[in-house]
Amino acid sequence: MNKTKEVKIGSIIIGGNYPVAIQSMLKVHPAKIQEAVNQIKRLEECGCNLIRIAIPDMEAAFAITEIKKASKVPIIADIHFDHRLAIESIKRGIDKIRLNPSNIKNIENIKKVVLLAKERQIAIRIGGNIGSIKRNKNENLIDALFNEINKEINILESLEFYNIVISAKCSDIDLNYNINKKLSENFSYPIHIGITEAGTLIHGIVKSTIGLVRILSDGIGDTIRISLTGELENEVKTAISILKCLNKYTGVEIISCPMCGRSHIDVKKYADRVEKETLSIKKNLKIAIMGCEVNGPGEAKEADIGIAGCGNYLVLFEKGETVDKGEPDEMIDKLVSKILNI
Ligand code: SF4
Repeated sequence: MNKTKEVKIGSIIIGGNYPVAIQSMLKVHPAKIQEAVNQIKRLEECGCNLIRIAIPDMEAAFAITEIKKASKVPIIADIHFDHRLAIESIKRGIDKIRLNPSNIKNIENIKKVVLLAKERQIAIRIGGNIGSIKRNKNENLIDALFNEINKEINILESLEFYNIVISAKCSDIDLNYNINKKLSENFSYPIHIGITEAGTLIHGIVKSTIGLVRILSDGIGDTIRISLTGELENEVKTAISILKCLNKYTGVEIISCPMCGRSHIDVKKYADRVEKETLSIKKNLKIAIMGCEVNGPGEAKEADIGIAGCGNYLVLFEKGETVDKGEPDEMIDKLVSKILNI
């Protein structure tokens, strides 16, 4: 797969050899500034690289000034229908605009947005969505969406604007794969990937994983968003897990046992704690949290370091060899401190 073009979005660069950036979206109207800022902080804490906000009206666009002040990560304005919302968002310091090629049709209005984005060096994502397209009876869905995106790219390129990201999303896994494949074969712009309206937690994770692993395994995807109904953090955690499994993310991986009748400890409690405390560590390490010492260290010998329950104690092991034993809290503290120093 050829490398995509590098595109700068605020403080980060996507495309080229850069890692796949994780994107999520606020689940609140931006004018509710305190709630919006709280959601931004939650997303930042769990490792989100890019945050998109819906801009349904001018009030939302006006809120960008305060939102930008509070955010450490780049903010993207999601625009539909009204080009004036994009213009106001750019004036208020947004880092990137997403335009839906299906619902802003007036070329002169698109040009106004592009020229201002060019002046301010803001990237634009041409974000096609199969649910928004209008097509001729004889045109297939993939061709219709591809043609819309292509037409919009031509408008931007006619103004010598190349700070472009593209995407074509739908909720059907096969269609999603085929349209992304077609985009990557025809353009060198970075591609944002996701399965739209993936659903509630478990179904959404399964569907997104099946759909996106196929695309990512072909080397396609420079930014990723998991669309889940429910808690914000789950979108980012799912994206991180998918990327970790594909060796496309630098970070700690927790290997934890499911527990059984031999378990001496609440594996979930310790796995959750270790996961939380090691979330920001940028090292490729496997950490095992196992319920018992009988099978624990042995089953987890691929792990770099780990703990296993042993009566009322925890044993600490490295590469399958026990190196310490003690009270659970003391051993967890030692585990985290060893991980930090590896
Ligand atoms: Fe059961 Fe021990 Fe295996 Fe956990 S590590 S599943 S407690 S045998």
